[in-house]
Amino acid sequence: MTSADSTAGAGYPSDAPVSQDLFDRARTVVPGGVNSPVRAFQAVGGTPRFMVRGSGPYLFDADGRRYVDLVCSWGPLILGHAHPGVIEAVTAAATAGTSFGTPTPGEVTLAEEIVARTPVEQVRLVNSGTEATMSAIRLARGATGRTKVIKFAGCYHGHVDALLAAAGSGVATLAEAAERAGSAVPDSPGVTGAETADTIVLPYNDLAAVEAAFAANPDTVAAVITEAAAGNMGVVAPRDGFNGRLAELAHRHGALLIVDEVMTGFRAARGGWSELDPADADLYTFGKVMGGGLPAAAFGGRRDIMAQLAPNGPVYQAGTLSGNPLACAAGLATLRGCTPELYAQLDATAHTIAELADKALTEAGVPHRVSFAGTMFSVFFTDAEVRDFAGAKRQHTAAYAAFFHAMLNRGVYLPPSAFEVWFVSGAHDAAAVEQIAAALPDAARAAAAALDTP
Ligand SMILES: *Cc1c(COP(=O)(O)O)cnc(C)c1O
Repeated sequence: MTSADSTAGAGYPSDAPVSQDLFDRARTVVPGGVNSPVRAFQAVGGTPRFMVRGSGPYLFDADGRRYVDLVCSWGPLILGHAHPGVIEAVTAAATAGTSFGTPTPGEVTLAEEIVARTPVEQVRLVNSGTEATMSAIRLARGATGRTKVIKFAGCYHGHVDALLAAAGSGVATLAEAAERAGSAVPDSPGVTGAETADTIVLPYNDLAAVEAAFAANPDTVAAVITEAAAGNMGVVAPRDGFNGRLAELAHRHGALLIVDEVMTGFRAARGGWSELDPADADLYTFGKVMGGGLPAAAFGGRRDIMAQLAPNGPVYQAGTLSGNPLACAAGLATLRGCTPELYAQLDATAHTIAELADKALTEAGVPHRVSFAGTMFSVFFTDAEVRDFAGAKRQHTAAYAAFFHAMLNRGVYLPPSAFEVWFVSGAHDAAAVEQIAAALPDAARAAAAALDTP
């Protein structure tokens, strides 16, 4: 027995029979048993936990175990699980009907809230971050009459065909073999070379590479797309002035800058990363927090560019469920809870957890780097500074897997991949932090023991 074994939630068995049974059933009818690849635990091994309930900072699995959740549905649940204000808003909306296929008041209010907080003048609501970036790329191409798109290795913009080249997130987890910066080779079968032929992939944080790419591709680049602050290769903040210089370079060459705030929007700060690090971007994409745990996302930007969209302009874009009243209600209730006080609290909680992890890993002798962007952070299992995807991939992923399982067995649910953000919510209170603190020393020792594993 170690000291951590006597704390709440400690020492769950490493098997999870009810989840395992559900996973076996799922694999019969769902490819890989999951509806989004990283949920399958392939990067860390073991049985994915099937969750049945969430409350505040906690998730409860089908085996009746409780976890402090540091995934928060991959970012959206910034107020915590089943937040009363959000549940009340969604319940009221559902009582009035689930979808009308017409304009509704809620989507106007949500659009006004987004416009008030961010640099965009107009916004179009969609159903997922993928749809938002896909539509923003189409609009940029339509508005400029050009074809090429510059993206950065390790930045994930959803599973848009043209952007599935050197993408981060689950793609990074599954395809660590992709050492292809500078090329436009698709990461996934089914994405054709033609679809990525117009995609130029460059190392993140490398302005010289962007200048060279513009020089090599005169008058053909429609847009540069970048994560506002990278979060899908783990957290890698842009270098000072990087986003601003991207806007200058894009504009000098007649291209647009698309800042993808799907993860950072209303998360890194009240107005997203762009509030902390403004850049003169033309288009922005949002998702995650703005849907409050329901499917809602958006893209927006300058009025003259947004005017190119149907029905005003020629660039087509549509959606049966876009602006869905339940999703808008959840998003609005969530954003209304996203006060300056909440961000101050998230910042404090994130720093407390990061410091605890840093201390435990240092004491156990595990090489690591804590990386922040606003209230977002992640821990890289490497001692080298991480500035780009190549740096992020130098992590010791086997040590992370051991760490992950030791935390899981002590009732802390971390992202099941070393390349993801550790998300906190306003519901992560002292008791939740205490449980994390109690689990960390043993987990750090488990990581240390795994360092010899390749
Ligand atoms: C999550 C994410 C997306 C994709 O959003 P989905 O809703 O999963 O389609 C796009 N861009 C970034 C930066 C993201 O983090």
